[in-house]
Amino acid sequence: MANKCAICGAEINLFQTQKLADGNCICRKTCRKKGFKVYDYVHANLYGVQAHIAQVERGTKLWDHYFVPAGRPRTRRRSSRDSARHCLSPRTSD
Ligand SMILES: [Zn+2]
Repeated sequence: MANKCAICGAEINLFQTQKLADGNCICRKTCRKKGFKVYDYVHANLYGVQAHIAQVERGTKLWDHYFVPAGRPRTRRRSSRDSARHCLSPRTSD
């Protein structure tokens, strides 16, 4: 039996469903992803989840603003990405 996501209306099976404390279901794939992983979906109701997601969407710019270190432009990012590529990439093409 299929559930329906209370937020986006998508048909979801049991494994795709995040059930909320008030009995509503949301899809893990889209709507749950919008919120933070640490958000307590199991004990939240639909209203709380919607508010949380709205807050996340609205707050994204603020998060970027606060967590991207000020005064350290792209040079640092590029160097860390280069070193990360060495660590993470399984293929050694060169
Ligand atoms: Zn959804």
